[in-house]
Amino acid sequence: MATALDRIAAGWDEQQKRPIQVLRVLCELAAQEPERLRPDIDAEQWGFLGREILGGMSRFNVPGAAGWAVDQEKVKSRMQAHWPKLEAIWERQQESIEDGLDAAGVELRPVLWSSVSAGGSPNRYGFRFDARRATRAGGSSRIGRLPRVDLEYRLQTISGNRLIQWLSNQGFYLGGRAGKVYAGINLALFLAGVLLLWGVFVAMGHATTTLDLLKIAISWTTLLGLGYLVFAWQVRLVTNRVTLAPSLLQPLASRYDDYLLELRADEAKGRNALYMVRYVADCPICGDEGQDQIYIASGRREFHGRLVGRCRRAPNEHLFSFDHVTRQGRYLRD
Ligand SMILES: [Zn+2]
Repeated sequence: MATALDRIAAGWDEQQKRPIQVLRVLCELAAQEPERLRPDIDAEQWGFLGREILGGMSRFNVPGAAGWAVDQEKVKSRMQAHWPKLEAIWERQQESIEDGLDAAGVELRPVLWSSVSAGGSPNRYGFRFDARRATRAGGSSRIGRLPRVDLEYRLQTISGNRLIQWLSNQGFYLGGRAGKVYAGINLALFLAGVLLLWGVFVAMGHATTTLDLLKIAISWTTLLGLGYLVFAWQVRLVTNRVTLAPSLLQPLASRYDDYLLELRADEAKGRNALYMVRYVADCPICGDEGQDQIYIASGRREFHGRLVGRCRRAPNEHLFSFDHVTRQGRYLRD
């Protein structure tokens, strides 16, 4: 369990690295000495001490990690700073934890837990365990499955950047006030673009020299290109309900340019919400070495207009279809 969780946490694109490192050290400790997390153990013995956890952060070459294992006061303040942040991240990543543990075949569901013992002795940190929840909120079981499934995609929630966090956690209601402002800006941009194109067209009529004509042609192309950048992904998003996030948004937090924008129907409210998400999967061809190696990318010319799952180890051969509703894929190179 702890090893699987460590691997899941390693894939998170969170802006705050320290709390995740705390979690990963905790996983490592739990894997080494699982008996210290048994619920029937004496409260004074249960869990791991702050200085053990912070000391273990030398694994990530965190500067000063070795010193934290000694200085009791610093350990206390560090853990008090990191632990609540880790709990918030845990909450956000709930879905990727569930998906990841399912994929690893783990039945137990860990919950972060800390205990404060009386008399100022240090806090103890660890996990409590729940049995796996019987029904999952997503309801993917209601969706009919085709007989052949070659891989299952797992959702990774994106929460590193503030803007993306907002987009991805709240959902972006297109009918809401923010949605209207957004639509207004878009319309204004579109009209301005059309007006500019028309202006350039009129200027073409007055052009007398070849150089003038060339200049006009260049600005015309530039304008069209800009328009494509701004609007093409929106058209794709509306027609396919999922698209690669525009390249303007990718560098905000992404490591691999594989962030997607997804429209999901909010049935309770009867409207669409926009989410920024990322999917990964294990490559069935690469086996153990293919863990989390599949990322979502453009289908290029071969699968024009489609999104496909590509393996980092063989992007053009280990190629799978991608369905964001069933979160399943099929091998495309038979
Ligand atoms: Zn592969």
